[in-house]
Amino acid sequence: MLSEFDLIKQYFQRQAPRRAVLGIGDDCALLAPSPGMQMAISCDMLVEGRHFFAGADARMLGHKALAVNLSDLAAMGATPRAFTLALSLPSAERAWLEGFSAGLFALADAHQCELIGGDTTRGPLNICITVFGEVAPGRALRRDAARAGDDIWISGTLGDARLALAGYRDELALDAGQLAAAAVRMHAPTPRVALGMALSAHAGAHAAIDISDGLVGDLGHILAASGVGATLAVDALPAGPVLATQPTALKRRFCAAGGDDYELCFTAPASQRAAVMAAAAQAGTPVTRAGVIEAAAGLRLVDAAGAALALALAGFDHFSGD
Ligand code: ADP
Ligand code: MG
Repeated sequence: MLSEFDLIKQYFQRQAPRRAVLGIGDDCALLAPSPGMQMAISCDMLVEGRHFFAGADARMLGHKALAVNLSDLAAMGATPRAFTLALSLPSAERAWLEGFSAGLFALADAHQCELIGGDTTRGPLNICITVFGEVAPGRALRRDAARAGDDIWISGTLGDARLALAGYRDELALDAGQLAAAAVRMHAPTPRVALGMALSAHAGAHAAIDISDGLVGDLGHILAASGVGATLAVDALPAGPVLATQPTALKRRFCAAGGDDYELCFTAPASQRAAVMAAAAQAGTPVTRAGVIEAAAGLRLVDAAGAALALALAGFDHFSGD
């Protein structure tokens, strides 16, 4: 039987810290921020049965638990530095711990984000990560920074994660190949860290948010915080490759309000279009322009011809059902 300390040592404590002054093993880690930078801090929890199915693949869980946190740094334009991991586990199973830590560290290493501490306890499976990043003063992509006249941009593609969920729930019929392709987006989201950093550094972007609960709901947070409204061209939204093969009504619904996409929705003045495209090219992440911020409050959904679209949509809210 693994003791708590053996477990930490074997699966989570690695070489001497490179970015932190002091890593795992003491009462606190010590982190020295780069001179003049602000710290961006965020925390996201994944609960079995709520955010992932019981029995979910451990490696993918390790990836996803960190990915959703890195996505918050990306949405702020911050550079990842370090993270902590609070883990509640029903039992210390070696195979699970090996898979989980492999998925976790593969993503952490890709972003040079170092595990500097955490907490480990026995209990229902629950994974809580806090990330620490850095951003230059005045450069964070805040939700309250959208201005009338800004373009609305979306990174990557939308809707395939929601399509996979619909497939698992038998809400619609997908063949095995389609389900597998869409499910990658659900289980292994790609945080758009390089894009967020490039947008904040070079592209004059104003506001940003990562799309976790569905575009319409998440864009709504930008609109509310910024005191503005918007028109969103629903048919211009970039559907995921599997969703793109589905009927228009489904495409519209899952692009606009799918959830679990972990793409960035951001705004930038029209004068910055070339700079936004250059930032996207630098980051290797495609971006699509799909709307405009307006002074009049409210979100207006329109089709390809500019006619109003009435979609029955709801963002995901943990306390109002799904
Ligand atoms: P404390 O008694 O102060 O809570 P712990 O005994 O829980 O300390 O942890 C010992 C050390 O191991 C601390 O440095 C803590 O940050 C680290 N640690 C505990 N659990 C984890 C984990 N899951 N991942 C990384 N570090 C961990
Ligand atoms: Mg502890």
